[in-house]
Amino acid sequence: MVLQEFFRFIYPGGCLRCQEAKERIEHYLCKACQTCIKLTDKPSYLQDVYCFDECVPIHVLLSQYKKSFSPNLRELLVSWMMVQFLKMDWDMPDYIVPAPAKEVVLLKRNHTNKTLARSFAKMLGKPVLDLFEYKLQDRVYDDQGDLLGSVYLKPCKGLEGKTLLIIEDEYAHYLECTHLLQDIGIKKLYKIALYSKESI
Ligand SMILES: [Zn+2]
Repeated sequence: MVLQEFFRFIYPGGCLRCQEAKERIEHYLCKACQTCIKLTDKPSYLQDVYCFDECVPIHVLLSQYKKSFSPNLRELLVSWMMVQFLKMDWDMPDYIVPAPAKEVVLLKRNHTNKTLARSFAKMLGKPVLDLFEYKLQDRVYDDQGDLLGSVYLKPCKGLEGKTLLIIEDEYAHYLECTHLLQDIGIKKLYKIALYSKESI
């Protein structure tokens, strides 16, 4: 009974997406929402993929993770990324690299891409390499009134012939990262994002 109360504290309420009753208290979603979750099938020649498209439950789970940074939720999200990575049958990366993110500059908060990348790297037994930085431009705004910014490469060496895997929450930035790394002499650049915003 005490355990049930404890779980209710960690996993409150109904399904995070539709508020319906959940099958088990420690689940985040009800059974119907869980069954919507299906990894995309991507051919292995692609080097830049996302795990889910048209998947609102994943969007909801990621939003919840950005609020709570719950280790349990992180493990769940990273497990899907790991399954997608294994499905792709890519070369084993030498380094796991967090994708650049605007949010960390704006909110100065825990960086979603960094925490996901750290967890993924730990699961795979590979080191994390923090290569990218997002810098905002002074007084340059986009249509929504947000400051515009650009991705920069931090000083790095010894990456010749290495294979990198970028981990990202929402699909973006691949071309910028590829462009920045083109003169470094890396062997391969892969990227896995959790989902593509455009597909929702
Ligand atoms: Zn639901």
